[in-house]
Order: sequence, then structure tokens, then C-alpha cells
Amino acid sequence: MEFDLQWLLIGLPIAFGLGWIASRLDIGQWKRAQREAPKAYFQGLNLLLNEQHDKAIDAFIEAVQRDPDTAELHFALGNLFRRRGEFERAVRVHQHLLQRADLGAADRARAQHALAQDYVKAGLLDRAEAAYRELEGTAFDIEARLARLSLAERSRDWRTAAEMAGRLEASGTGSYANRIAHHWCELSLQAGDAGDDAAAAEALRNARATAPHAPRPLILAARRAAKAGDAAAAFNLYGELLQHAPELLPLVASDYAGAAIAAGQAAAARTTVLRRLEQQPSVDLLHAMRLLDGATPAAGDVPDAAERAQRLLHAQPTLSAALAVLDAPLHAADEQALRDVREAVARGARALQRYRCAACGFEAPQHFWQCPGCLSWDTFPPRRVEEL
Ligand SMILES: [Zn+2]
Repeated sequence: MEFDLQWLLIGLPIAFGLGWIASRLDIGQWKRAQREAPKAYFQGLNLLLNEQHDKAIDAFIEAVQRDPDTAELHFALGNLFRRRGEFERAVRVHQHLLQRADLGAADRARAQHALAQDYVKAGLLDRAEAAYRELEGTAFDIEARLARLSLAERSRDWRTAAEMAGRLEASGTGSYANRIAHHWCELSLQAGDAGDDAAAAEALRNARATAPHAPRPLILAARRAAKAGDAAAAFNLYGELLQHAPELLPLVASDYAGAAIAAGQAAAARTTVLRRLEQQPSVDLLHAMRLLDGATPAAGDVPDAAERAQRLLHAQPTLSAALAVLDAPLHAADEQALRDVREAVARGARALQRYRCAACGFEAPQHFWQCPGCLSWDTFPPRRVEEL
């Protein structure tokens, strides 16, 4: 028995070692890998201790003190600090790494990348941007540019964002056309708010040139045309939009109807909206139809306003559709419509016939003395949400 145990004790590490060597097929790399063995070991330790951060940090601090040259330990420690929200300490660890003269280029880039992530997590966006900029030309180049793009978007610096996305696209990381078009749209709106109409028009032209089929630049262009009094141009732009994205009609339905009426195209718009209404029941389309009804003599072969509202309510029992039915004149025979209205009201009311915890906002159909969400006592008022 003792003999067996002895073999097991010797055999296991040997088998482990052989497997480890076999996993590094290149014998030339073996020597280097052997030097890095502690590194790999501690990386594993880092993963193992993931769920025990306090103990891991104690162990790492001790190890770093014993062997201050081990870059890998510094990385593990810095990451742990960042994950715990101790950003100052994470920054110090990574800055310490960057100051070391013996650090290779790859590890230097890695430390720089970690430092940039520390700054993002700490909310120091200017410093994060500067740290990411240092990574140009390194293995983290693309990652750093993506991070800088999202930083620029977060700080609403749309010009930098557009430039960054353009450079990402140029480096072959996929198409950023739609995103860049959004950046130009934001710039156009900003310029418009600042009263610079020429700049607004220019930015919008850039947006449309970047992504000719993207919906937002078309919608903005149509609104601009309508505002400038060019209803025909606005109507044509909406037509272009509906060619590429017919499902967006509810978003622009009232503006579309307005442009159509002003351009003398109400009949054509009626057909378009009615066809869409059959495929995509929507109260916004119903409102657009009401605008168009006022501008065109009602044709005998299309449902009238009351019937359209009832059809919508039947397809989609929402409170808005119920309102539309109540707004249209009801005939005594419309029993089905009344049942649909009742169903819509019941559905809408269910969301309001609940009790809500005053401490955490947890909602439930029944009253609780102890909140199941935050476990507070007596935080549910005795009144339902709709009675508050
Ligand atoms: Zn609660």
C-alpha cells in the first residue's frame, strides 16, 4: 500500500510535466517556456482564486513583495484591484509596471492597455483616451481604437467618433457606415441647434453620402425639406425611406401625411398607409389616416375611420387602440368592438392593479408585509399603484 502511494506521488507530477511539455510541441520554445513556468502557474492561480478575491490579493501582495520582478503577478494583482473597484491601487500597480526598464514591448503594451481600462472604470475618460492613444501601432491597436470610439460617443464628441470609426473601417474591421451616418446626423442636429444652418446641411449631406440607404439621414433630410417649405422634396425623401425600410412608416406617419397633403399627393399616401396598416397594425398609422381623410374625399371602397379603428383594436388590444375606437362614432351593433375595448382596458389596468415597494420599486399583484425584492418590512403601501 505504501509502495503504491509512493509511485502515485512520484508518477503524478511526472505525468503532469510530460503532458505540459507535450502541449508545447516546439522543443525550441521549451526552454523559454520552462523559464515562464511560474508565470503560467500564477496565471492559473489567478483563475482558481477568482471567487476569493480577498485571499488572492493577500497571496499576491506577498508574492510580489518576495519577487518584485514578476510582471505576471503585477498584472494579476492590478486586474484584481480593478475588479474590486479599487482603481487607485490598480492604476498604481500598472504605472509601476510601465516604469520598469526590463519590461518587453508586448508586456508594456499590455500594461498600458490595463491602465487605460483602469481609467475607464474610474470614470477618468480624458486619461483613458490618452492612455488608449499610446497603444497605436501595438497589438492592442484595434481594441484601443474601438475603446476610443465608444469613449468619444459617450462624451458626445461626434466629430472624433466619426473620424475614429472611419479609421477603424479603413483598417478592415468591418463596415461602420451606419454608425458614422449617426455621428453626422448628431453633428447636423448640433449645428442646427446652434443656428448654423449651412453646417447642419453639410453634415447631413455627409451622413447621406456615408450611408445612402440608412433611414435616419433620410428622415432628417425630409424634415429639413418640409421645414424649408419644399413639400414635394420631403414627400420624395419619405418615398425613398419607405422603399428601404417600410416598417419605419409608423415612426414618421404624421410627417409623411403632412408632406403628402402639402405636395398634393394625399391619394397616393392613403394607399401606402392603408397597405401598411394591414401588415403592421399601429395607432400611429391610424392617426395618419385621419389626417389624410380630411384632405381627400373618402372613397367608398376603403373602410371608414370607425371601422379602421375597430379592426386595429381587434388585431391589437391596446389602450391607444381602444381610445381610437371610443373617439370614432360607435353604432349600436358594434358589440365586438365593445368587447375588444373591455379587453384592452383590462389588459392595461392589470399593470396598474399592483402593489409597489416604496423602498425598491418591486411590484407584485399581491400585498407583501416583507418585500421579496429588498426584504424590507412594511414597505408596501396598502394602496394599489393606480390609486397612488
Ligand atoms: Zn423592496
